[in-house]
Amino acid sequence: MSSQPAPASLPGLQFNNSFTQLPAPFFRRVAPQGLKEPVLVSFNQPLADQLGLSFDSAEDQALFLQAMSGNATLPGSDPVAMKYTGHQFGYYNPDLGDGRGLLLGEIHDRQGKHWDLHLKGAGTTPFSRGGDGRAVLRSCIREYLCSEAMYGLGIPTTRALCIVGSQEPVYRETVETGATLLRVASTHIRFGHFEYFYYSRDEKNLKVLADYLIGQQFPHWQDNPDRYQLLLEEAVRRTARLIAHWQAVGFNHGVMNTDNMSILGETFDYGPFAFLDDFQSDYICNHSDYQGRYAFNQQPGIGFWNCQCLAQAMLPLVGEKAALAALEQYDEHFHGHLIGLFRAKLGFEKQLEGDALLVRDLLREMERNRVDYSIFFRQLGHIRSVQEPGGARDLFIDRAAFDGWAERYQRRLAAESATPAQRSERMNRHNPKYILRNYMAQTAIEKAQQGDFSEVNRLLHLLQKPFDEQPENDHYAALPPDWGKGMEISCSS
Ligand code: AMP
Ligand code: MG
Repeated sequence: MSSQPAPASLPGLQFNNSFTQLPAPFFRRVAPQGLKEPVLVSFNQPLADQLGLSFDSAEDQALFLQAMSGNATLPGSDPVAMKYTGHQFGYYNPDLGDGRGLLLGEIHDRQGKHWDLHLKGAGTTPFSRGGDGRAVLRSCIREYLCSEAMYGLGIPTTRALCIVGSQEPVYRETVETGATLLRVASTHIRFGHFEYFYYSRDEKNLKVLADYLIGQQFPHWQDNPDRYQLLLEEAVRRTARLIAHWQAVGFNHGVMNTDNMSILGETFDYGPFAFLDDFQSDYICNHSDYQGRYAFNQQPGIGFWNCQCLAQAMLPLVGEKAALAALEQYDEHFHGHLIGLFRAKLGFEKQLEGDALLVRDLLREMERNRVDYSIFFRQLGHIRSVQEPGGARDLFIDRAAFDGWAERYQRRLAAESATPAQRSERMNRHNPKYILRNYMAQTAIEKAQQGDFSEVNRLLHLLQKPFDEQPENDHYAALPPDWGKGMEISCSS
């Protein structure tokens, strides 16, 4: 193993490794396998500030780079590969686990909030299943930018502190280069962690897992006899709300396997994701998803299916009645949250009965007219009246269809008390001007592969404020170029 003990610690990185205090089946200790000749591709300063990390001196920066490329293990860190399993494309796979990422340890930020630090691309582990344990620069950039974009959009997500690149060849469809991503998350516990203990019939550790999570994230439930039921209900509700967010913002995750579902309802494991360009309800971003299991319009149902897997895995803790009661909450939370998000997108403060129908008919026409999803909603905020529809109408081929809908919309707006200017201002806070279209990520990747990291950093800053007008960046808010529309993304990462 190339990793060596580090001579000094880094300010703010005081690890505690509560996960490694758990029983042996939860993890395997693994030393990272360092990348040769590491270079810092990008550093997420706002996240570092939030975590209370600053590495000002040259020594600190050098040590940080060594640690983030897997060449040094920081004092106090105790890297482990977590064991989990999960349902992949509907089928149970007992052999999963961290195959190319290591939980380095946990830290607390200035507010005392717990964060897991996970180094993706750190080499092989006992769960690598013949894989090389590496992550390529391309996939690290995609996860880094998209997780930050989600955070900027106010959608629960894991984040990432930095990307380190290297010249190490990594073999995918073509030869690429190895990189690491330091993922920062409230937890790395997935639905699949529960499934592992359930399917290994290890009820003792299933309980240990649930109690560990409750102690860390929901300490106020610790002495509650119904704590496991509360945990399951919370996971179901958070998942429902997360997927409502994805649907409202037009995000297709692409690989909603239960090992990619965070128990805390955060967007997790960014692979072949996409933000919709034209609104296409059955859009499939994942090139390998031949059946469309994870198509955009399947996400709400798959979210529920995944919650069923979780409820099944928690049956020994909660019993059938409580499991069913928790699952029953999914629909109400999903639909309730979704209509709330759409009302905000349309500039409605009141809740009126016909709102869901108005949304349904709008989406139907948008799909028929192949209207760009994000641009339309942003433009809609600028409509003054049916007579002055602005750019929103121009996005429709069938203008009469838009006019018909816009008249209903205007009648509905009459029930609101806000002025057009107030509504427009409010809608701009719910309809992003800037999203991470796949062609934008692709451009940043191609430059980075040539050693120019400027576009990665530009997009990072752009996407941290997706609702703000950034006139110097207006071209990023335009329709995608033809080559970049509706790109299908390979699963390889
Ligand atoms: P993912 O599709 O990235 O969610 O990964 C599914 C499973 O495959 C996880 O257990 C990963 O750790 C593992 N995995 C993915 N890529 C690699 C790789 N290059 N080497 C080893 N394991 C991998
Ligand atoms: Mg995964």
